[in-house]
Amino acid sequence: MKNNREVRVRFAPSPTGYLHIGSARTAFFNWLYAKKTGGKFILRIEDTDIARHQEDAINQILESLKWLGLEWDEGPGLETEGKFGPYRQSQRADIYKEFAQKLVHDKKAYLCFCSPEELEKERKIKLEEGKPFKYDRKCLKLSPDEIRYSLREGKSYAIRFLVPENEKIEFKDTVYGDIKVSSESIDDFIILRSNGLPTYNFSATIDDALMEITHIIRGEDHLSNTPKQILIYKALGFNIPFFTHLPMILGQDGQKLSKRHGSISIEKYIEEGFLREAILNYLALLGWAYDEKTTIFSIDEMIEKFELDSINKKPAKFDYDKLLWINGYYIRNLSDENLAELLKDKMKKYLESQKPSNLEESARELDQKIIKITPLVKERIKTLNEGIGLINPFFVKISYSNESINYFKNKNIDAPDILKRVYKALDELEEQKGERTEKFCAENIEKRLRQISEELNLNFRKVAEVIRIAIWNSPVSPPLFGTIEILGKKLTLKRIEDYLRIISQ
Ligand code: GLU
Repeated sequence: MKNNREVRVRFAPSPTGYLHIGSARTAFFNWLYAKKTGGKFILRIEDTDIARHQEDAINQILESLKWLGLEWDEGPGLETEGKFGPYRQSQRADIYKEFAQKLVHDKKAYLCFCSPEELEKERKIKLEEGKPFKYDRKCLKLSPDEIRYSLREGKSYAIRFLVPENEKIEFKDTVYGDIKVSSESIDDFIILRSNGLPTYNFSATIDDALMEITHIIRGEDHLSNTPKQILIYKALGFNIPFFTHLPMILGQDGQKLSKRHGSISIEKYIEEGFLREAILNYLALLGWAYDEKTTIFSIDEMIEKFELDSINKKPAKFDYDKLLWINGYYIRNLSDENLAELLKDKMKKYLESQKPSNLEESARELDQKIIKITPLVKERIKTLNEGIGLINPFFVKISYSNESINYFKNKNIDAPDILKRVYKALDELEEQKGERTEKFCAENIEKRLRQISEELNLNFRKVAEVIRIAIWNSPVSPPLFGTIEILGKKLTLKRIEDYLRIISQ
């Protein structure tokens, strides 16, 4: 193969319903390699062997890829899909048939009339004998007359690839090194099923060849398919691409990553309030590392530093806490304006999911308020959803939990007395600064509340705790003085009254 050809890589998902975190990594590594080399990133949907209607599943994958910013140069969903289309295998059935027929014509493949039941029976016999099942080439021995007869009878048939005898299949995988396989270990595998649809190894190879893919980067689970695919490339005289198989992603327990380990679809991470940059940064670290210590990479740095041959053979372990940490890092590094926009979108959705009667008046002022709230929480949250959890009492009515109602029972704190003092002190501040009045702002609120703690000779943390339970229904809130300022005088005092009433009952 000529080395000066433009790099063309592809991501070829089967539409199983969502973009798995492992598939997202595969897509990302392909994309990175295309960007790095100035090549093309192609998206192909491998939807031949899944019977059910899958438009939604495909759209879900396209949406997740777009959200990640992994835009493709050729493929479904683009205004012009590209010159090698269609890019959905379900629309390429004729192409696979044509190549299968060519192989039959060249005596590199043959018709097999064996029924699934017959094959199953033989497989069972072999199993009982403790031998591996290999198709016995019964149909290879059929005479042309026998074949014609069966065809005339309308017997259904599959097409099998005729695996050459005694051939060494060798290839170099960027990650797994030199691989040698003897053709003796490979069965005459089916390339076209009796329903006319291709098997994965056949359609993927035909498409990779016709779409002029130069580098195949995919999961390690396909390493064992590669020798079969190489046989097909050779039989049809196609260029053989370079292969890079990516190590599996495991859970912390060393098992294959699955739903048991938490969220595994990109869609879920979007829902949970992760940022695109953080996910990509984390995905890059799964199996690839620039050096021992660098954890944070901008997308441009990743493009610059990414190398296929520095991918690690060791399976990568998925570390949710590390992803969370990285996400927190990216959140802290957003500008207040950008973070406010993201929080606003999430909060809007959250508020829409609430009963209108549960909303505070301030819900109508979301746009103005969120800008002020954002700097209060920026350092404290690792996901946007954590942010929503922390700030929703600004907009949603609180209803005191039993825990809050009983919070100060058996604690040596006179909560009603503290709250009455707080009420009075805050009531003296004015939201609109008049001539001789003190403004209702974080600074003055702090001054007043600290005075109370001094008067009572009580640690300020205790005073703050009492106020938090009353105005936030939680011992945790964003920084107190700013929170009270933004919540506003009216609502703060109302909540203090409500809480006093409830605990006195
Ligand atoms: N459709 C296959 C999968 O989702 C693609 C394998 C490949 O990249 O060749 O696993």
